[in-house]
Amino acid sequence: MASSVILVTGGTGLVGSAIKHVIETEPEGSRFGKRPGETWIFASSSEGDLRDPVAARKLFDKYKPTHVIHLAALVGGLFRNMKYKLTFLRDNLLINDNVLHTSYLTQTQKVISCLSTCVFPDKVSYPLDEDKIHLGLPHESNFGYAHSKRLVDVMNHAYKEEFGCNFTSAIPTNIFGPNDNFDLEDSHVIPGLIHKCYLAKKNGTPFVVSGTGKPLRQFIYSYDLAKMFIWMLREYDDVEPIILSVGEDEEVSIKQVADAIVKAMGFKGEYTFDTTRADGQYRKPASNAKLLKLMGGFEFTPFDTALNDTVKWFVESYDKARTGKKSA
Ligand code: NAP
Ligand code: GDP
Repeated sequence: MASSVILVTGGTGLVGSAIKHVIETEPEGSRFGKRPGETWIFASSSEGDLRDPVAARKLFDKYKPTHVIHLAALVGGLFRNMKYKLTFLRDNLLINDNVLHTSYLTQTQKVISCLSTCVFPDKVSYPLDEDKIHLGLPHESNFGYAHSKRLVDVMNHAYKEEFGCNFTSAIPTNIFGPNDNFDLEDSHVIPGLIHKCYLAKKNGTPFVVSGTGKPLRQFIYSYDLAKMFIWMLREYDDVEPIILSVGEDEEVSIKQVADAIVKAMGFKGEYTFDTTRADGQYRKPASNAKLLKLMGGFEFTPFDTALNDTVKWFVESYDKARTGKKSA
């Protein structure tokens, strides 16, 4: 890439901070390290609320990005999605419309937006692959978020067909790592359970996992995902999305996640499941065949290593971590 300015919207969140870490720490000559002529900007919402078109335009006028990795979104786990369906739909529609349209108006060379495997239909054959996004309705628990993200793929195709824009999207599975949102109620399962187990250990109270523990998920470490975004930025130029995931045979149950957290935290107390709470979708295994074929293979961080590192980060960073209310 010649001289380029890469604007990462949502650059201060879980994924954005992982991209920053990788870009700043990869050794010289690495496929994923910073290259000469690249300027990276990691924007937070304090630089502009992207639900507002004027703020979006100001951000673009300030940095004049040639490339955008668009991560900014209202994000949350199952319980937050169930509670705020309209807000998830509307905030994300506004953010995505403003980022894509401003990118078009300012002639940004390339935009990679971030979707999620929630976009896929609830009732569809497994494994999920890139051709199945629009084959049926998403799961009802997060239909607001899912529809807003699914429309990004529709917009990318429309921008390409009408204006020739180079817009595409990535579809990660459930992500975790340092700098996640560790709120007790609004977060995804891994950060939520790490925080709950931490408090249970500290206060001598039971560690309560929501639901039955039976649902299955594929988890990707934020630092691995960051490398995939950097690869996409440099080497992938097609409007069709790519699933960014571990293999479809690497599903982990919520109980296995909770067991791994208990072990990493050294928690010895009582541990139960609150089966009155929702399980959400039972499973949504996704194929990474397209990714591996195009990238030529990838060395994933083993789940236990990534989880141990995340727990360690959380314990050491408790005072600065995003934990919502510091309840105890
Ligand atoms: P996150 O940690 O919650 O970070 C969200 C980022 O978006 C923050 O930098 C936040 O800025 C910014 N943001 C939120 N609302 C904004 C607004 N109105 N205007 C401007 N910026 C705004 O989220 P994440 O987990 O890194 O998610 C990154 C992307 O991955 C999202 O598109 C998400 O949908 C997708 N994704 C996440 C998961 C997952 O498991 N976490 C799974 C699949 C896909 P502030 O820090 O200033 O608030
Ligand atoms: P999803 O992958 O989009 O469904 O989102 P989550 O990361 O929120 O994972 C939801 C799954 O984890 C469901 O089966 C929940 O019942 C289960 N779960 C167990 N404990 C928790 C928790 O503390 N927070 C969240 N978000 N989910 C939990």
